[in-house]
Amino acid sequence: MRPIKMNDRQSHGWLISEIDRLSHQSIELCYHCHTCAAGCPVIEDMEYGPDRILRMAALGDYETLLRSRDIWLCAGCFSCALHCPNGIEIPAVMDALRQLSLSAGYPAGERDALLFHRLFLGVVQRLGRSHEALMLGLFKVLSRTPFKNDLGAGIGLFLRGKVPLLPKMASHTQQIREYFQRGE
Ligand code: SF4
Ligand code: SF4
Repeated sequence: MRPIKMNDRQSHGWLISEIDRLSHQSIELCYHCHTCAAGCPVIEDMEYGPDRILRMAALGDYETLLRSRDIWLCAGCFSCALHCPNGIEIPAVMDALRQLSLSAGYPAGERDALLFHRLFLGVVQRLGRSHEALMLGLFKVLSRTPFKNDLGAGIGLFLRGKVPLLPKMASHTQQIREYFQRGE
């Protein structure tokens, strides 16, 4: 993705067109009904919430939006997209905003979120699928939070056999790697 230049930031409508291009979503359709915020599981931790994030995008509030921690807190659960009357896939919009934020050189608004994203993509690229135990182990080491209180939950899942210890390669791993190489 090309770096963002100052002229880009000044052009009216630039942000909307970049979001549309990267997310394949038409955020102009949003009429700010707030339905998406109602079912968001992380709304309590967000500063603005998905409805106001889209509002800021419509208004071109570039700086606030791309510095926001909300775009990094979004868990991509699709709850908002399922309820949006205009069918806007907000997780795709959040992905686009994260890409634009990084391209503009802003630090990730939520500690360790960028590390988690990169680890997830790295594991999927190598195995063709996610692997929770590997992700958890790498994340704990690299974020230097080995004993944070979520470790107990991870151990509990492992003891119940919900998290296999050894990773398995997906049958279509090569195809997934090719997607990554093409940047898809
Ligand atoms: S539910 Fe859809 S239309 Fe309503 S505020 Fe959210 S994104 Fe906009
Ligand atoms: S996809 Fe993101 S913004 Fe939408 S409900 Fe889930 S966490 Fe909230």
